[in-house]
Amino acid sequence: MTSDSSCPVCACPVEDLHHLLRACPVASSIWRRCIRPDRLDVFMRMEIKDWILVNLSTGGGFVLDIADWDVLFGLILWNLWLRRNAVAFCVINESHESVFEASLRLQRECLVAPGRVWLPIYGSGVATAVSRVNRLAVRWRRPPEEWCKLNCDEAVVTSSGYSTCGGVIRNAAGDWLIGFSRKLGICSVIESELWGIYEGLLVAWSLGLVRLIVEVDSSNAINLIRQYKEGQAALALVPNIVSLINRRRSIELSHVMRKGNKLADCMAKFSNWDDLFCHRFLSSRGMMVFQLEEDSHDSSLAGG
Ligand SMILES: [Zn+2]
Repeated sequence: MTSDSSCPVCACPVEDLHHLLRACPVASSIWRRCIRPDRLDVFMRMEIKDWILVNLSTGGGFVLDIADWDVLFGLILWNLWLRRNAVAFCVINESHESVFEASLRLQRECLVAPGRVWLPIYGSGVATAVSRVNRLAVRWRRPPEEWCKLNCDEAVVTSSGYSTCGGVIRNAAGDWLIGFSRKLGICSVIESELWGIYEGLLVAWSLGLVRLIVEVDSSNAINLIRQYKEGQAALALVPNIVSLINRRRSIELSHVMRKGNKLADCMAKFSNWDDLFCHRFLSSRGMMVFQLEEDSHDSSLAGG
């Protein structure tokens, strides 16, 4: 340790917790970027312990439209501390990421970690955040910034015995990008689930989406895809899905509880077509609006 009380980053004479986490230029520039201008003054002056507690829980109404603020806030504090120590102890920083960029990246990793299949590039993220997300996976959550989310599902039309599939793709704001539904004929539940994923990926790639989270409520379907080895698929559709997945670098497959997949379920049940084509919808239909709004409300609450 050192007897020098000045800030190693900006040389301000007194480096206390308020300075390190809020007032030091690196920190304050991040807060100005994230916090509503009319609330910034209160945000910067709150008692430090209350400030941390509020931002890690309700969010206090400070933040602009940023999902999962509690996770991001904690990661910003952590990265400010790491950056400060790297400067103080002359650790060479080989990453070109800013504190904010590193925090956003870790937030994204935390939020997709529970079902991560592809791209295990980084470490395991923050354990507490991961377990928290697992708990919250019962409801639909907005994907991180710059990502989209595909939810898909299957259904059986009991009157005809036909299976159907359907789904929806939404952006980081929770807005509807496209929905789809298709009648399949007679097939098993797991086959219908796989058809939903397959059609959903075709739709996603036709839109040119780059970063995609695929959410389904069938852990069986996820396991079949995860455990696929070339030439050993039990179901013919699996290699086709894996091939579609391999076309993009940034794709995550994760499990969601049925409650978090209700809009996709609506789309699957909507598939009472006379043909076997995949029908696409550029706007949400009246029957879906309620669920879309409910999901949007839930996920903005989750984002604080
Ligand atoms: Zn400073």
